[in-house]
Amino acid sequence: MEKTLIILKPDCMEKRLAGAVLDRFQKAGFDLVAAKLTRLPPALLAEHYAHIADRPFFPALADFMGSRPVLVAVLQGTGVIAKVRELLGPTDSKKAPVGTIRGDFGTDVSVNICHASDSPESAAAEIARFFAPDEVFA
Ligand code: UDP
Ligand code: MG
Repeated sequence: MEKTLIILKPDCMEKRLAGAVLDRFQKAGFDLVAAKLTRLPPALLAEHYAHIADRPFFPALADFMGSRPVLVAVLQGTGVIAKVRELLGPTDSKKAPVGTIRGDFGTDVSVNICHASDSPESAAAEIARFFAPDEVFA
């Protein structure tokens, strides 16, 4: 069964929106099969954001992502990777349509409520990065 990794970012936690965001994923038919609250250290953020580590916004992004504990979770279901990205909306919250998670709750292109894996390859790598096999109740 397909799985994806999500991170409820510091803005989501600070706004007490974890339940509201998880509710959207669960109402879409996806199952929560792993979850933990953790504060992401710089080395883990550098690995997770390796694809953008050379971009000028990376230091500010790493500061933001490490600023408070986040909720890291795995969702499971048919088509979950693409569907969760669709429910999030585009990266820039200001361009995200009303009705999407980022459109409804996000702030801007950086502070945007939730991360989600963008392909089967990244989902597999990201799940393995944050969870031991016996922590995923698939
Ligand atoms: N980001 C940013 N400025 C940008 C683009 C991205 O701060 O111009 C941040 C934002 O938090 C985004 C994350 O970097 O969610 C990862 O970027 P990516 O392009 O992978 O976007 P996503 O997959 O999260 O939509
Ligand atoms: Mg991405």
